[in-house]
Amino acid sequence: EVDSLSDLETLEVLGNGSGGRVYKVRHSRTLAVYALKVIPCYPPSKQVLREIEIFSSTDSPFVVGYRGVFQNSSGEIAILMEYMDAGTLDNLVKTNGSFTEAMIANIASQGLKGLSYIHEKKIVHQDIKPSNLLVSQKMEVKIADFGVSRMVNISHDPCDACAGTCAYMSPEQFDSETFGASNGFAGDVWSLGLTLVELYKGYYPYLLPGTKLKRAELMWEICFGEPPSLPEDTSENFRDFIGCCLQKESSKRWTVSQLLCHPFVTNGGCN
Ligand code: ADP
Ligand code: MG
Repeated sequence: EVDSLSDLETLEVLGNGSGGRVYKVRHSRTLAVYALKVIPCYPPSKQVLREIEIFSSTDSPFVVGYRGVFQNSSGEIAILMEYMDAGTLDNLVKTNGSFTEAMIANIASQGLKGLSYIHEKKIVHQDIKPSNLLVSQKMEVKIADFGVSRMVNISHDPCDACAGTCAYMSPEQFDSETFGASNGFAGDVWSLGLTLVELYKGYYPYLLPGTKLKRAELMWEICFGEPPSLPEDTSENFRDFIGCCLQKESSKRWTVSQLLCHPFVTNGGCN
């Protein structure tokens, strides 16, 4: 529907990340609103091409809609996508504080459906975290940012995944000898589980608010500390569900299809 970048007017900046700047844009004829991610690198890197190839192959209500790719006048790549009008889970938790169990069960269900969809297509996301889960006013939750994702059968450099933050990486992504080599799908489950704990607590679970850890200390905590858990006043189902996501040993961690049948998800958090 959008033929050229010149048909789009910029409304505001939605986000700035390692991968580029994302603008809210409007199509001048149809007035349809989109998000446009401009990646300031020419020629595009292999990873950027991979991001486009992977993102453009997706089509699911649980993945942000891909609407096309363009080149601007300076040769930069711009990815057009569906605009998510409630922002990221990261912004929501920072502005509204923590989420209720029922809301988290809903987010868990949609996040798992998104993971189930991409995993079936042999895509490993590798960067599931609150700022890469987008939300609409209708409380739709969709997976975004395939900037470090990969196809499961293609060999990869584990350091790729660490390009952004290591904070949501699973123990086996740091040390596959100790925590079990996996195809990568289990890593996305860990990251989603950690994200859900953060939504409940209102802060990144490995760090008490106001404290800091160096990268190596954080890695140590993830690999050798107890996995984050929930307080006793949460429901048994919620605690058990998180326990299944945050198994340090990748082979003990539940798969997406198992988790989709967990009572925390099937009961909608009402138990
Ligand atoms: P990066 O690789 O730089 O992290 P992202 O694709 O995650 O790029 O986008 C960066 C930020 O831009 C997101 O965290 C979010 O705040 C905002 N953003 C990205 N896509 C959209 C969208 N479709 N709708 C609304 N905001 C978006
Ligand atoms: Mg991102």
